[in-house]
Amino acid sequence: MREMTKIAVAPSIQVGGSIFASEQLVTIGAAAGPDAKIEMTPFKQLYVEVPLERRDIIQEELERSGLEVYPAGFATKSLIACNFCKGEEEAGLRSAKALNPAIAGIQTPAPLKIGYAGCALGTSEPLLKDIGVVKMRDTFDIYVGGEPKGLKASFAKLLVTALPEDRLVSAVMAIIDYYKANAKGKEKFSRFVERVSLEQLQEIVS
Ligand code: SF4
Repeated sequence: MREMTKIAVAPSIQVGGSIFASEQLVTIGAAAGPDAKIEMTPFKQLYVEVPLERRDIIQEELERSGLEVYPAGFATKSLIACNFCKGEEEAGLRSAKALNPAIAGIQTPAPLKIGYAGCALGTSEPLLKDIGVVKMRDTFDIYVGGEPKGLKASFAKLLVTALPEDRLVSAVMAIIDYYKANAKGKEKFSRFVERVSLEQLQEIVS
C-alpha cells in the first residue's frame, strides 16, 4: 500500500482574504488525484493527502500555480490574515506579506496559529489565536495566548503595543523561538504563556 502524507495548501496573503482561483482548485484536484482526501481546516489551509513519493513534485506544481505549501501538523500555520478591507496601505498588506514567510511552517511543540488584523475591528479574530497581530494606525500590537477551544476558552492578552513595522517580524520570531526552546514536551502555547508569564515574554521581545 502507498504511504501517504498530508500537506497544507493556502492561497497567498492578499486583499480580499483567502481566495482560491478556480484554476488553482483544478490544479489541487489534478495534482492530488481522484481518490485524494482534501480537508478544509479552521485555520484557512486545505489539508491535502498525497503519496509520500510524489510530495515534492506536487508541491512544485501547486507553487507554480501561485499556491503556498506548508507542513501539516505540529508547525506554525500560515498567517491567518483578515481581508484587508481598508486597502493595502491602511490595513498593512506589506507587513502581513513580510510576516507570513518568516513565521509559517516552523516545527513547533504544538501547532501554532498566528493571526493578523489590519485594524482594531479585528474581523480575523486575532485575540482567539496563539499569537495575534493587530495594526493600530502606523504601529502594531501583539497579543499572546488566545485559546478558542474548550469550556475554558479565553482571549489572548496584550503583550506589546506600538511596535514599529521594522520590528514586527523579529518580535514574533522571538516569541516562537522562545516557545520552541522552553516548552515542556507538547505544551500548548496558551498554557506555556500562563506558565512563563507575560512579563517574561515581554523581556524576550524587548
Ligand atoms: S480587520 Fe479591519 S482591515 Fe482587516 S478586514 Fe477586518 S475591518 Fe477590514
